Amino acid sequence: MILISTTHELLRGLGVDGARLTGGRLQVHTPLTGECLAELHTTSKDAATAQIDRAAAAFRSWRTVPAPRRGELVRLLGEELRLAKPALARLITIEAGKIPSEGAGEVQEMIDICDFATGLSRQLHGLTISSERPGHRMMETWHPAGVVGVISAFNFPVAVWAWNVTLALVCGDPVIWKPSEKTPLTALACMAILDKALARFGDAPEGLAGCLIGDATIGEVLVDHTAVAVVSATGSTRMGRAVGPKLAGRFARAILELGGNNAAIVCPSADPDLALRGVAFSAMGTAGQRCTSLRRLFVQESVHDAFLDRLGAVYRSVKVGNPLEDDVLVGPLIDKAAYDAMQAALADASARGGTVTGGERILTGDDDAYYVRPALVAMPQQAGPVLTETFAPILYVMRYQTLDEAIALQNAVGAGLSSAIFTTDLREAERFLSAAGSDCGIANVNIGTSGAEIGGAFGGEKETGGGRESGSDAWKAYMRRATNTVNYSSELPLAQGVSFDI
Ligand code: NAD
Repeated sequence: MILISTTHELLRGLGVDGARLTGGRLQVHTPLTGECLAELHTTSKDAATAQIDRAAAAFRSWRTVPAPRRGELVRLLGEELRLAKPALARLITIEAGKIPSEGAGEVQEMIDICDFATGLSRQLHGLTISSERPGHRMMETWHPAGVVGVISAFNFPVAVWAWNVTLALVCGDPVIWKPSEKTPLTALACMAILDKALARFGDAPEGLAGCLIGDATIGEVLVDHTAVAVVSATGSTRMGRAVGPKLAGRFARAILELGGNNAAIVCPSADPDLALRGVAFSAMGTAGQRCTSLRRLFVQESVHDAFLDRLGAVYRSVKVGNPLEDDVLVGPLIDKAAYDAMQAALADASARGGTVTGGERILTGDDDAYYVRPALVAMPQQAGPVLTETFAPILYVMRYQTLDEAIALQNAVGAGLSSAIFTTDLREAERFLSAAGSDCGIANVNIGTSGAEIGGAFGGEKETGGGRESGSDAWKAYMRRATNTVNYSSELPLAQGVSFDI
């Protein structure tokens, strides 16, 4: 009961209408205790379609607003997020189960991307390209793409929206968001925060930003609506397999950010203390529920036993429990289905000769809360559950002899999101980063697989979907490129020497 009243108080404080939190059919549970925090009304298909239509109308005026002025809206959003940070971070902890520093970190990430996008609003640049024809100029121009649909997962309930909405708004696109049905409360809070920024901004078109509450069926409306030019979908590879072909079928643009099965390699020359910390945070942080969580560890034969002894001690000692209590580093799994999937993967690993330590449920007195001790699994080979993502704190450990063997094993899975090597040997580090090294979208040296900064492009290859979001030139996915050739001469030479005399 205390969590319910705290949640409602936090939401009202952030500007969410209290009447929205009761009387609907979507029950929202906190993983901290399993109790139901709210019963939300879901968006009907007709209402979702109407929101998308309004966004399409808003596009017609927003695309002509100068980009630096559009950036002003994102700057104001950043200001509002700074004010809202403590309350929104606490809501993330309650709704998604993150420890407080990770909840605060997620809001900080939103603020950081607002700063980035504001600067970007004065930088949406194209190239000029030398023309083969005299008296001609060739250039490329970037224009807004259209309505952007954002589908997001429970484990980054707000940052993923921020990565997308900030770039999309600056690029001239309205945004309709379908948050995870497991974390809609933080989404309502974000929309209230954006409303404050919109009110201060003054003259944004009605319908510029919206939010659809519900499950996959309402996400499908976004995927199918022909006015949605770009869909940025974050979630499981299973979701991507459903969404990707539909978008391809209507030639819409897809930014797919799907599952990972991330690995790290610990070399003989690795700094053992640094590697231990890097591995521990990547594998156990967020209770193994990050797309970039470390799931496979390859340790060179000569340092394997010593490293595993120390890692095992950390796994046994790390404090697991309600993240609202002091010193907790590992919070709950999101729900029972996540717990069941974890236990099934561990049973499969055992049956294949794996030695499992940890993984057991930690009872807190709340029957519907699922806390687990992170599991370390020594595997004789990379097989079975090691090859796929189980969204829980399981780290499979395997020995290797040569770096070539370790890199080959690392790349021999479907996903291609994040990877890391721990080494102080320059040659090993550079081989890992080379064209013949890691095949992932993220390849790190002496840093774990998780915890990316917003300045770089984020995303992965293969079954991770190939999308890129956030920094670098990820903004180009939210715009369409036009190549323009201008003839300022009085002749009409044709390219490639073609003649067409009339
Ligand atoms: P999920 O796939 O169950 O759901 C993600 C979102 O997709 C939800 O909003 C859901 O309602 C929606 N959805 C599902 N099927 C859909 C469909 N057919 N049409 C439209 N929408 C649909 O994922 P989850 O359990 O919430 O999140 C965990 C997964 O997300 C993990 O696999 C994790 O690796 C991945 N993830 C990836 C990234 C990344 O950037 N690569 C980031 C976060 C999470």
